[in-house]
Amino acid sequence: MNSASSPMRRNAPVFDVEAVRREFPILGTSVHGKPLVFLDSGASAQKPRAVIEAISRVYETGYANIHRGVYQLSQVATEAYEGARAKVQRFIGAASPGEIVFTKGTTEAINLVASSYGARFLKAGDEVVLSVLEHHANIVPWQLLRERLGIVIRVVPVDAGGAFRMDEYERLLNARTKFVAVTQTSNALGTMPPVAEIIRMAHGVGAAVLIDGAQGIVHEAVDVKALDCDFYVFSGHKLYGPGGIGVLYGKERLLEAMPPYQGGGDMILSVSFEKTEFAPPPARFEAGTPPIADAIGLGAAIDFLNGLDRLAIAAHEAALLDAASARLGAIPGLKIYGTARPKAAIVSFTLDGVHPHDIGTILDHEGIAVRVGHHCAQPVMERFGIPGTVRASFGLYNTIDEVEALARGLEKVREIFG
Ligand code: PLP
Repeated sequence: MNSASSPMRRNAPVFDVEAVRREFPILGTSVHGKPLVFLDSGASAQKPRAVIEAISRVYETGYANIHRGVYQLSQVATEAYEGARAKVQRFIGAASPGEIVFTKGTTEAINLVASSYGARFLKAGDEVVLSVLEHHANIVPWQLLRERLGIVIRVVPVDAGGAFRMDEYERLLNARTKFVAVTQTSNALGTMPPVAEIIRMAHGVGAAVLIDGAQGIVHEAVDVKALDCDFYVFSGHKLYGPGGIGVLYGKERLLEAMPPYQGGGDMILSVSFEKTEFAPPPARFEAGTPPIADAIGLGAAIDFLNGLDRLAIAAHEAALLDAASARLGAIPGLKIYGTARPKAAIVSFTLDGVHPHDIGTILDHEGIAVRVGHHCAQPVMERFGIPGTVRASFGLYNTIDEVEALARGLEKVREIFG
């Protein structure tokens, strides 16, 4: 992007969505002969040219294994990889790069915490509080830990609008509560629990807190120090970055105290058959050759976002959410799930008498990509007594015209199904 002439720089009075769209080559393509309308960024976002080019550049001119080589190319790759870690640190306001562990994604980061923090700090009878909004990635690792250790899982319900029930949360907290793991934004409904208050209350009973930021970090700036969460996790691919890379932020004193999650190269100080000494964090948790180019690509995604006005993005996404809620909400037989505010630009809905998969297929023929099904969040679907929904999730590059295209597509679905 030409930063000098870009209309998207900080302090730009208006968010120029057309200029942003030009940075995403895939948005110029067609599906079934129709212009692509991509409304599945909640599953995985599209990539700007800056990210695509950064990855190509690594493989074309800067690739070698890291931390090991004495030769220049390895040192260049190591610097770029560690540079990406420092970018993540600044992006989320962590105290030091040592608090940033690269993982495969949110899923691996949560498994790492459940397994390693669990092994060190939790025991049978300890209570872990989750919410009914959680993605399976923030449920199953705790169930695996329950099988291993005999911890007890408590679940905070949501109200009819999909809001996190703070009264029930308060009721669940007690001296046995040792850990709270909740999402910053529900991927299935878009609703946003008040995480700052949730963290404060958990700390009040001495529990540590993990925030699943897979969706949240995409839609708002995050400051882990201000939040005071103990762990924060997210995935690169939802943040306009590459797949295969994610982040675990952990407070230094906690990471220091946690045992390794996996063993192998790069996470040790010395190895003999009698005894192995582990490296300090973050290396302790990064066994084996990491996804080097993808970490550097995540750094490029962060640079890309830093080049935009995030408040302007948030305002743009709020306008998309309002337009979609109003336009879709007026379609007869269409029911939106998750109406509580605040919520991110995610609209989850059903249409009377039509299976979500049929809706998704018909929309696909109009060039519109939406997600259908349970969105890896079956408990919240069950809460509303439905097997699944259609989900339109918006990114910074979506437009009001695309909201209109979605609404017209849904009207077509209604015509077909009479
Ligand atoms: N948590 C939330 C809220 C999500 O939306 C997702 C993915 O959709 C995940 C966790 C899992 O992320 P990943 O598949 O990138 O590990």
